[in-house]
Amino acid sequence: MASVKPVPVFDGHNDVLLKLRGAGGRPATRLFREGSDFHVDLPKARAGGFAGGFFAIFVPSPLDLAVMKAEMDKPEYDLPLPDPVPQQAALPVVMEKAALLMQLEAEGALRICRSAADIRAAMDAGEMAAVMHVEGAEAIDPEFHVLDVLYAAGLRSLGPVWSRPTIWGEGVPFRYPSTGDVGPGLTEDGKRLVRRCDAMGIMLDLSHLNEKGFWDVAEISEKPLIATHSNTYAFCPQARNLSDAQLDAVARSGGVVGLNFATGFLRRDGQMRAQMPLAVMLEHLDHMIRRMGEDHVALGSDFDGAVVPEEIGSVAGLPALIEAMRAHGYAEARIEKIAHGNWLRVLETTWGG
Ligand SMILES: [Zn+2]
Repeated sequence: MASVKPVPVFDGHNDVLLKLRGAGGRPATRLFREGSDFHVDLPKARAGGFAGGFFAIFVPSPLDLAVMKAEMDKPEYDLPLPDPVPQQAALPVVMEKAALLMQLEAEGALRICRSAADIRAAMDAGEMAAVMHVEGAEAIDPEFHVLDVLYAAGLRSLGPVWSRPTIWGEGVPFRYPSTGDVGPGLTEDGKRLVRRCDAMGIMLDLSHLNEKGFWDVAEISEKPLIATHSNTYAFCPQARNLSDAQLDAVARSGGVVGLNFATGFLRRDGQMRAQMPLAVMLEHLDHMIRRMGEDHVALGSDFDGAVVPEEIGSVAGLPALIEAMRAHGYAEARIEKIAHGNWLRVLETTWGG
């Protein structure tokens, strides 16, 4: 059988820089280029049609992952917010991961994209398109010196918070069942950060923000509202997922929500387990389309940062999801919007050009 070219996927969130750092940093980029046990690497990307996406620069909290995993196996769970990370602790980690992304570009593994035109050009040339994204703005000082320097290095997307408190606002805890309405909204500094990012053309990512913070951004920002990797509360009542009112606000603003492949945010029981039919992902997609329309639905896998459904497994398994959409009756035009078209449109609006 002749092999069919997979539908290109531009994806809202991956944590492969976390994996690269864990595998030794600079020398580990060879694994990305030649093959690895990561969810994202070049050979698997070619096989699965992974055209690129947002590469998260994330400062991990000193969590005991075994304890976290055991906790999330319970029918209900409520992990406390990790302690705040001081700026002087966050900054070197952000520098290290930004440098790893730049090294990957220097080695020809990907292209750091600063505009929608850059992403289109990379996709046309068959190069992996990377958007530099900082997940949790702990490294950024209130005077925005670091923000200016990161922008010059290619930063075009920022999540003000991960799931912990910062000087800007608070993220949601890993809590099931729970709404996202679990803490205070943005601080005055957080509101200044939103205005600053709007003015600079840095996309704001609302995944991880609690609900009050979300509504603060909705009120202040003049850009489309975007949650790069979040699912629907209606089908999985996890604090990380979005209520119908939030989905409606995203659609009204012209924004997008990227479907998160993390099984704990997909499965109705909130469990982080890979055994899960792809039909569950289609339930979330159907609901997003019902609430928002097909122009506001995208993908935000969380590859290398979460347990993904076993039928997908890595970027090499993306065609299984595309095929599931087809089998579910989605037309090709809709599939292309979800796979990459909606991301390109909303980034063009947000960044300009
Ligand atoms: Zn995340």
